[in-house]
Amino acid sequence: MSFFEVHDPAFARFVMGNAPVKRLATGFDWVEGPVWFGDAGCLLFSDIPSNRILRWTEEGVSLYRGPSNYANGHTRDRQGRLISCEHGTRRVTRTEWDGSVTVIADGYQGKRLNSPNDVIVAADGAIWFTDPHYGIMTDYEGFKAEQELPCAVYRVDSEGGIEAVITDMACPNGLAFSPDGSRLYVADTGRMFHPDPQHIRVYDMVDGRPVRGRLFHTIAPGCADGIRVDSDGNLWSSAADGVHCIAPDGHLMGKIFVPELVSNLCFGGRAKHRLFITATTSVYSVILNRKGNQWP
Ligand code: MG
Repeated sequence: MSFFEVHDPAFARFVMGNAPVKRLATGFDWVEGPVWFGDAGCLLFSDIPSNRILRWTEEGVSLYRGPSNYANGHTRDRQGRLISCEHGTRRVTRTEWDGSVTVIADGYQGKRLNSPNDVIVAADGAIWFTDPHYGIMTDYEGFKAEQELPCAVYRVDSEGGIEAVITDMACPNGLAFSPDGSRLYVADTGRMFHPDPQHIRVYDMVDGRPVRGRLFHTIAPGCADGIRVDSDGNLWSSAADGVHCIAPDGHLMGKIFVPELVSNLCFGGRAKHRLFITATTSVYSVILNRKGNQWP
């Protein structure tokens, strides 16, 4: 059985037949939010229901932070600091060099955020995050609570100013910029119980804001949660059967099969060529003949 399925002949050069999909660690409840720290030789990721951020190295898994305030997605800013989405405290935070935690955003126009889900940092240092309601729907991945704000995508500038920049999606989730910053991709996972399927939308970036939002690709089976872009602009998306690679024009190039439902992914490793995949109870990786673009 192959780990890969080629839909566009170009995809056959993106993967290597002797580079397996490996399970690195297992036994978790629901893992998300992988982020690579090459300087520390480790991957951080969230096990949301168990309220922990874990650290994987070649030597094994250890606790990075617990309780984690039911943290979900992570990234690093342009100074390499950890940026985290927290369901439990309904906020986005930055972990400083000394270990202290700074709140980046916890509300908008006098109301509490829902449950920040995923986060990226733009070239200008602005922090972009999604705020669907998943973390307050039940007590499983946070604390059940009333929703105060519509689900939206927010941008926080370097002065701390917060702005809702996308407000017409059902439940914005994963997000990523194209390599040159001219496009923003956002996954909408809110439509899973509606006839209109969940999908990935693409926006053109004009004067630092997303415009002309339109359908980019619909993942099947399952839906896109976390997404990342490689250095050539191909989009790698989570799916129910693994990871799908989508070309910049929106067509499916190929799949990497993973034996569990995939939530999020990130590039890392020595040459940014290793794709780390969080999938339900386990973390997987596969080395590709591609390099990640997504900062870090
Ligand atoms: Mg997510």
